Amino acid sequence: MGLGARCKAGINSLMGADPHMRIRMSMAAVASFLMLGCAALVNLLALAGLARQDLVRWWTAVTLVVLCVVLGLIRSGWSQRLRDPALTQFQIRYALACNAVGYVILGEARGITPVILSLILMFGIFGMSIRQMTINMVFALVSFGTAIAVVFWLGLAGNPLVEIAYAVMIFLVLVGSTFIAIRMQHIRRHLTQQKRALTVALEQIGHLATHDELTGLINRRRMAELMEAERQRCQRGRRPLVLALLDLDHFKLVNDQHGHAAGDEVLRSFAACVQGVLRNTDVLARWGGEEFMLILHDTDARGAAQLLERVRASVEGMEIDAGGSLLRVTVSIGQALGVPGEPVECTLERADQALYRAKESGRNRVVHHGEAHEETAQAVVGQWPYI
Ligand code: GH3
Ligand code: MG
Ligand code: MG
Repeated sequence: MGLGARCKAGINSLMGADPHMRIRMSMAAVASFLMLGCAALVNLLALAGLARQDLVRWWTAVTLVVLCVVLGLIRSGWSQRLRDPALTQFQIRYALACNAVGYVILGEARGITPVILSLILMFGIFGMSIRQMTINMVFALVSFGTAIAVVFWLGLAGNPLVEIAYAVMIFLVLVGSTFIAIRMQHIRRHLTQQKRALTVALEQIGHLATHDELTGLINRRRMAELMEAERQRCQRGRRPLVLALLDLDHFKLVNDQHGHAAGDEVLRSFAACVQGVLRNTDVLARWGGEEFMLILHDTDARGAAQLLERVRASVEGMEIDAGGSLLRVTVSIGQALGVPGEPVECTLERADQALYRAKESGRNRVVHHGEAHEETAQAVVGQWPYI
């Protein structure tokens, strides 16, 4: 195994394979790195005689032990049972408490703690709710208020003016980060709303691009895609692709005699009526104007013939209430079975020829274009007209 692969395997076993675990572990690792940096700095200051070494050693030991426990709880998966599996809130509050203790034990070097405080608060700003941020602010105020009081009570304070400046600085850091956190929260909420609205708009656009507004059926573009997919499926399963073109008879007369709105109502009722006869797996689309396309799924010539006859009869028996007057319409249907290996366009062309023949031979009928399957189909639906 090469060095790169070995490093990758090492990081994988350290961080875990689960992407959520890796995010949690990488966040905890960055926080630990910063905490270790602060601990090293505090120890250097103690070595330089600016703080009591024994206290600093205790502070460092406790900090590191808790750090290891936190990493262990996250990596072992134990923390997943909690509402905050990354232990972010605990880590932030613990770091705040350590920082406040650091303020007490660091002597005249305690000026570094407000800087560390802003670093800790920055960590939580992006992911925290306003409630969590408020709790942390109150926690930080109480911790540092206590730390400042202890410093004065134990007589550890240096120049009172400098001590007051530190206190003011801590207060400003807390107020500033609260303000930024609230702003971030508003921006996040706004972005979430925008994302939601965008998702809805995209769904609507997707629906409009694939559906016919009047009938609610899928449109020609979507149907062309489904027909090609169905052709491939049929080829794999060695089944014929069954297509049918449906065209309302003398529809122009409906428009001319009853108006365009009545025509629209007829189209809607026709679509609903045909869908009521079809099985869930069959697909009906508005092909254009008063023409509809049908894919009959998983059927043979006999099944298709029977179903299309039911469709024709249902349309013939339908009464449509269009603005007060009851209308009746009929439909002509041209059906074709795809020959294995032939493009969809050819099957469609034969369905169109069959429809033409249905119109020519008197309308209100189903005509099958057999070609390769003609013999079988004629045997099944011999009473029907054939091309
Ligand atoms: P045929 O029996 O030969 O099919 O005759 P037809 O009158 O049905 O066919 P033709 O092609 O002459 O007329 C179709 C009519 O359908 C013309 C067009 O105005 C009408 N049409 C197309 N789309 C719509 C629509 O969305 N709403 C309404 N109301 N009418 C439509
Ligand atoms: Mg027509
Ligand atoms: Mg037509």
